[in-house]
Amino acid sequence: MKIICIGRNYIAHANELNNPVPKKPVFFMKPDTALLQDGKDFYLPEFSKDVHFETELVLRICKNGKHIPEAFASDYYDEIGIGIDFTARDMQSECKKKGLPWEIAKAFDHSAPLGGFLPKSSFEDMGNIPFSLKINDTYRQKGNSQHMIFSFDQIIAYVSQFISLRLGDYIYTGTPEGVGPTELKDHFQAFIGDHKLLDFKVK
Ligand code: MG
Repeated sequence: MKIICIGRNYIAHANELNNPVPKKPVFFMKPDTALLQDGKDFYLPEFSKDVHFETELVLRICKNGKHIPEAFASDYYDEIGIGIDFTARDMQSECKKKGLPWEIAKAFDHSAPLGGFLPKSSFEDMGNIPFSLKINDTYRQKGNSQHMIFSFDQIIAYVSQFISLRLGDYIYTGTPEGVGPTELKDHFQAFIGDHKLLDFKVK
């Protein structure tokens, strides 16, 4: 199982980090050891002073494929969930400055909390899925798939040109604006529409 993450997929988020808006999807990966499930606590890593949260819709891949045409891409995921792409922003900034890969800032253990999923069939329109993150009862991020630069199908078609997708893989589809630092004792709750699918505490 692998986790593929899309970067800079919302214009307002690319802007808030002073990144250019991409012409093709930008992607990177997290290993399976990044997953944090079942509402388990997230422990702030000691190596960073600035761990940012990024709330993202997550696709669950339901069959193997490569070179998937965009027209058939929707057959390759069957559930949509919500997760956090934790990012050691201070370390990422260092990597970007030096032109180095980002893995140290993105792929660390438990950097990918993942909540429950809803069947794709429960959504009328993949291009209109509202989602949100509450920290300590305050909404910190609100997004909607309609603001994605690259749609779910475009992401699957693009990524599968380079990397085979396998049953059970996850794709984190990018974060809207509003990312920020994670604090000790924060209580994270993430929603798709009114469904609370992710709930965990920071220690
Ligand atoms: Mg992200």
